Amino acid sequence: MTSKINPWEVAQKQFDEAAEVMGLDPNLRQVLREPKRELTVHFPVKMDDGTIKVFTGHRVQHNLARGPAKGGIRYAPDVTLDEVKALAMWMTWKTAVVGIPYGGAKGGVRCNPKEMSQTELENLTRRFATEISIMIGPERDIPAPDVNTNPQVMAWIMDTISMHKGYSVPGVVTGKPLEIGGSKGRNVATSLGGQYVVREAVKRVGINLDGAKVVVQGFGNAGMYSAKFMVEDGAKVIAVSDSKGGIYNPNGLNIDEVVKVKQETGSVINYKDADRISNPELLELECDILVPAALENQITQENADRIKTKIILELANGPTTPEADKILWDKGVLILPDILANAGGVTVSYFEWVQDIYSFFWDEDRVNQELERIMTRAFHAVFEKVDALKVNPRIAAYILAIDRVAKATEIRGIYP
Ligand code: NAD
Repeated sequence: MTSKINPWEVAQKQFDEAAEVMGLDPNLRQVLREPKRELTVHFPVKMDDGTIKVFTGHRVQHNLARGPAKGGIRYAPDVTLDEVKALAMWMTWKTAVVGIPYGGAKGGVRCNPKEMSQTELENLTRRFATEISIMIGPERDIPAPDVNTNPQVMAWIMDTISMHKGYSVPGVVTGKPLEIGGSKGRNVATSLGGQYVVREAVKRVGINLDGAKVVVQGFGNAGMYSAKFMVEDGAKVIAVSDSKGGIYNPNGLNIDEVVKVKQETGSVINYKDADRISNPELLELECDILVPAALENQITQENADRIKTKIILELANGPTTPEADKILWDKGVLILPDILANAGGVTVSYFEWVQDIYSFFWDEDRVNQELERIMTRAFHAVFEKVDALKVNPRIAAYILAIDRVAKATEIRGIYP
């Protein structure tokens, strides 16, 4: 859908709009509008059939004023530098919204992991880690999983960097398996963080999560756990989808069963007790909470008017374009913007990094309590701005974040 929309243009447009409303100093505006560093690498990988294939990847650091850069790495056939730049900028705002001491970064490799063997993926990952090793490290830039990367990929990166150093460097990536310094609760953190946010949001809208109708686009790490938490809170998940298509049952789906079907067959579409539905149709279903948890640019000016929900919980990064934002806000839809809604992932990544540095590991209750405290605090900080400035929640979240990053930049001063 509308893949022509350039995410970097969207990110800069969102930034400009917030900068305008808050009257940001033009000098700071110039500094914060561009990434600090962009690295593009072309690197060879030995494939299983003996041939060598050259892949292209990127690592972008947008801002380091508040701490080391932080952001995931994605593997996908359509990764572009502009997409990675946008995602890096969004990470700067995200870490600032939740008030954790990081800047923003992102990485990506143009590849189709679904057509690659485990050995090929490991070779690609270890070589990409080596290529970007000039930028990453526990004090500099800490990658994490994103679309099509997972704890195993993080383990390969951690091992590769550790081999170069000659000793274990667990703090170089987060989202690692528990056995090598991962944090309890990291796998569910994005969705659980989103759930803490949505629990506050329903009070504002005046609806109950118990009995609420929920639609989830994307059934990977973010979407699947979100569907589970919604059901635990008493909501009825009526439709979910993945890249192969969607399923819909107005009486509610049995999410445990959908998870099983997805794990066994590779797609939710093989779940029996539901009708098939396309991804565009799914977004337009009447519901209380819509959870985009797949890709960018899913809700645009083309379909925004047909969206029939009360709340949008943006677990995906950049699912709504600025034009769609306006249409939805005017219609009275409460958008929980990505830089707030999905910040639970990076927040528990932060806990993981802290635990790695201390070599002292927390139990899951402590992780979740700290996560709840941070997400709830961030929700209220954003909505105080919504009420005070009469702006939509995305602009409010941007203003909160930009203000924090601008202050840090100003206090540090411009070198030399
Ligand atoms: P994932 O790879 O685990 O899952 C992605 C899901 O989206 C898969 O089910 C895939 O089939 C589905 N999908 C792909 N194309 C689709 C399409 N056109 N329509 C519907 N579904 C489609 O990835 P993830 O980690 O769950 O990430 C999903 C989104 O959440 C991304 O935007 C990512 O940046 C964002 N996010 C993830 C995390 C995290 O911790 N995992 C944190 C913050 C933000």
